[in-house]
Amino acid sequence: MAEVLNDDTLIAGTMYREWLERYPLLEEIVALNEVTWLNPAVQPVATVLPELDVGTGDVDAADARLKRFAPYIARAFPETAAAGGVIESPVRRIDTVWLKCDHALPISGSIKARGGIYEVLAYAERLLLEEERATDVTQIDYAALGEPAYREFFSRYSIAVGSTGNLGLSIGIMGAKIGFSVTVHMSADARRWKKDLLRSLGVTVIEYADDYSAAVAEGRRQAEADPHCHFVDDENSVTLFMGYAVAARRLAVQFVDAGVVVDADHPLYAYLPCGVGGGPGGVAFGLKLAFGDSVRCFFAEPTHSPAMLLGLYTGLHDEVCVQDFGIDNRTAADGLAVGRPSGFVGKRMHALIDGVFTVDDDTMFRELALLYRNEGIALEPSALAGIVGPPRITAALGRVRGSAGDAGAPIHLVWSTGGGMVPADQMAEYRETGERLLAGS
Ligand SMILES: *Cc1c(COP(=O)(O)O)cnc(C)c1O
Repeated sequence: MAEVLNDDTLIAGTMYREWLERYPLLEEIVALNEVTWLNPAVQPVATVLPELDVGTGDVDAADARLKRFAPYIARAFPETAAAGGVIESPVRRIDTVWLKCDHALPISGSIKARGGIYEVLAYAERLLLEEERATDVTQIDYAALGEPAYREFFSRYSIAVGSTGNLGLSIGIMGAKIGFSVTVHMSADARRWKKDLLRSLGVTVIEYADDYSAAVAEGRRQAEADPHCHFVDDENSVTLFMGYAVAARRLAVQFVDAGVVVDADHPLYAYLPCGVGGGPGGVAFGLKLAFGDSVRCFFAEPTHSPAMLLGLYTGLHDEVCVQDFGIDNRTAADGLAVGRPSGFVGKRMHALIDGVFTVDDDTMFRELALLYRNEGIALEPSALAGIVGPPRITAALGRVRGSAGDAGAPIHLVWSTGGGMVPADQMAEYRETGERLLAGS
């Protein structure tokens, strides 16, 4: 439950009454009702992109780096061999929408297999270059990186990360495989099985009774003291962001192969579950580069963790957190249980994110059960946040048609962000929760 806010409760030095006058939707957000917010500050890609300190060149570099590592990935993770060591998921049509199946990403079964794995590889490559084992990347024998001499080299370095679960899983699996010593600082939301799995791989897992922001802060503090330790900064990392962004150009190829045309008459609407914002932010950035103004990106958050919504709506970005407004950041969507949004993402993407909507936990559970019933697809709760996007956004755009409506027939793309590694008993529990809710409604 949200705490009761009185009219004269002070939030960041301003009375709640004044907040409500400027941001009327806050009343619904604070009441934990599902809301849909269309961003009035969205601007054309051609206006926004030239002003940013990140661009196509950064995504090119990430794409090229992933290609260099592909021979190593293919050997280290045989499940990726058929795809030549490229870590990618299919896009599937389900009824009237497309599902981007990141729950089926190899290695760690969530969208974090993009950013997280990429950042571990980028760090490994940087060490090889800096320690003068190689003067440039053409001298690195990537396919040999799994051999003992390399593992011994990497074992002198460590990686630390704060996580609600899936980022820790991706960094831990990849980091341990290549030879790093990895420490994952897990927030209270992280599931037991994720911690157990990491420990079985030799990863150090430190548990916190507090939420994600606290786990990140403590991880950052501990890593700072150690020059041989790389801290993966989920709140600010450009590297993670670029790892996610590569997804969009691969999707563009998948759409071409599937005969799906995205243009002004067939705009793409992408629905992206959002925690701290790096994953959806990076993907949205890549989508805007790939499809220009023919794509609209909508972020989905739990009603109890509307961090990015608050940051964008108030323009305060990481200077505001859900707890400031008495919202508890407690949700079964553990991958989205983030109270304070990434400032890096909010400040760069505020004119490129087309809207944010919030979703009740019960809604996610019902959708989880339905998708399994109808399609046999098993997702974790976080991954269902986007699925209610098409009707919600269509209705919201309909209310403002004329000013913001699109002429053409949109292609709806729901990003399914995780669930591939959830143990069967945990998944059965999720489904039962959803079935119970469906039976009761
Ligand atoms: C991490 C995560 C997200 C959101 O990514 P952020 O970078 O935290 O915004 C969405 N879904 C799942 C399953 C995740 O693990």
